Amino acid sequence: MKISISEVLREAYRRGEAVIPDGAVATYIPELGRADKNALGISICTRDGLHYGIGTVDKRFTMQSISKVVTLIVAMERFGVGEVFRNVGMEPSGEAFNSLIELDLKSNRPYNPMVNSGALTVTSLLVGKVSFESLLETTRRFCNDPEICLDETVYRSELANMSRNKSIAYLLESKGIIQSSVEETLDLYTRMCSLSVTARSLSNCAVLLAMDGVDARGNELIDSRLCEIAKTIMLTCGMYDESGEFAVKVGIPSKAGVGGGVLSAADNRLGIGVYGPSLDDKGNCIAGKPVLAYLSRALKLHIFDPNDITAEIIP
Ligand code: GLU
Repeated sequence: MKISISEVLREAYRRGEAVIPDGAVATYIPELGRADKNALGISICTRDGLHYGIGTVDKRFTMQSISKVVTLIVAMERFGVGEVFRNVGMEPSGEAFNSLIELDLKSNRPYNPMVNSGALTVTSLLVGKVSFESLLETTRRFCNDPEICLDETVYRSELANMSRNKSIAYLLESKGIIQSSVEETLDLYTRMCSLSVTARSLSNCAVLLAMDGVDARGNELIDSRLCEIAKTIMLTCGMYDESGEFAVKVGIPSKAGVGGGVLSAADNRLGIGVYGPSLDDKGNCIAGKPVLAYLSRALKLHIFDPNDITAEIIP
């Protein structure tokens, strides 16, 4: 029996909603603590640019770590893949997103661009060369959302509460990894984290990555090789220290942020944006896993599933 996309979305929502009480909103950035814990939105954007959604898909929230994908792509465009990965690795760290232990004890290079140490390193390459305004424009273009702007309140709240990121950045400087101004690096990183998106705009960016950088009108916005690299790093490192389990159960290159967003790029098929500020203990949207695991199975989106049935289910 053929199942409709609205039924699939309803079931995904139901599964996500069921786990929300087990999580908690982030409070280490005080302003994020004001989010509605019970909010949940799921947006799907097809390769033709059609949207299907359920729940809170138009509420603005901050991108947080999802911006690491944008920053990585811009740095690769600007400096080349070799130069970026001379400064940061490609390996999962197996540690928390804001850990500095492995960086201090085991390595002279951050493990990957999706953890804070790696993203701060990539951001430091951009300081003085790529302005915040140009990164904002790029984010708007990737998300097909001209209304993305800096959420000043979240930005100020994080700036006033970022001892941890300061420690990481100064450790990176002490090791000679960050060579530009640490304060400017932290400022640019925090601005990027504070860009306000919606589940719908994340689904737009996700489908752009899924379609190797070509938008629904046929314009190439990102080089396909860079999309391939970004998606691979998202698959192996995007969900922090639960990336392995997520790859098995969901199998869609994804990146989450502590603002509650998840961006999931189902290769060659579609893009998904999820908003749910109740987080698990790894700092990922707690509803994201059941929602995306279900969508992955129902729509056959796992990266190793050869059957593309999206055209049958989505008109
Ligand atoms: N701005 C957050 C931080 O640096 C981002 C973390 C996240 O979204 O996972 O702590």
